[in-house]
Amino acid sequence: MIDLTLIFTDLDGSLLDHHSYGFSAAEPLLSRLEQHNIPVIPATSKTFAELIPLRDSLDNHHPFIVENGAGIYIPQDYFPEQLNQPIVDGYHLKKLSQPRSTWQSILQHLERSFPNEFITFAELGTHGISTSTGLSLEGAQQANLRSFSEPVLWKSTEQRKRAFIASLQEAGANVLQGGRFLHVSGHCDKGQALQWLTQYYKNNTPQKTITTIAAGDGENDVAMLEAAQQAIIIRSPVNAAPRVRNPYQYLTKACGPEGWVEGVMYCLSTSLFNSIN
Ligand SMILES: [Mg+2]
Repeated sequence: MIDLTLIFTDLDGSLLDHHSYGFSAAEPLLSRLEQHNIPVIPATSKTFAELIPLRDSLDNHHPFIVENGAGIYIPQDYFPEQLNQPIVDGYHLKKLSQPRSTWQSILQHLERSFPNEFITFAELGTHGISTSTGLSLEGAQQANLRSFSEPVLWKSTEQRKRAFIASLQEAGANVLQGGRFLHVSGHCDKGQALQWLTQYYKNNTPQKTITTIAAGDGENDVAMLEAAQQAIIIRSPVNAAPRVRNPYQYLTKACGPEGWVEGVMYCLSTSLFNSIN
């Protein structure tokens, strides 16, 4: 039996440095993983438009998960069998959420009950997004090219925010509290995306035993860290390590890409996995 190990990874604060977004500490290991046919699969809150240039700089050619699990993109011809998924922007796309427009119309409807208490990404526009996030204008534009979710900047009290979230949930939305924004999307997460994609690898490589590793540093990574066979919790310079229910978990000593290397090397050297030394 041939084994295949899949590494699902968060980007910001995990494979990428929280402050500089650099990943040079992980480059030698990324090349070794590629040589050993161990796919590194990005799973991020970022959009497709943000991920494409990043994937190029990482020299990564594997499937990837965007908008917190809402969309899974698989390169054409990646699997021998044709995927029964529509082709969007040159990739097979598996959607796990309704489109952005669904959440935008619900939000528009809530404008009456919560007047001037919130502002959406779409309303902020490129300049507004750039100002509220610190992203460059180009980065803000890419962040606004969303397919499945609408970030919302809350401007009123905590009490009103709870009522707002309850109204969104009643309307069928899932609401994630991010660092600055509330993320309004469908009932998807990185864990469901990991499971769907792992099943896809299994269907396409039935002769292989698949093992899964996930790496992440935040609350939006918990479902993925729990869905994987082994979890790497990357220590964060800004937030406490998330609580993860997984008997096989490793909390790194280092932060960002240094911690990523430490965690991946630890997992690959344990008995559950083949060593790549
Ligand atoms: Mg992160």
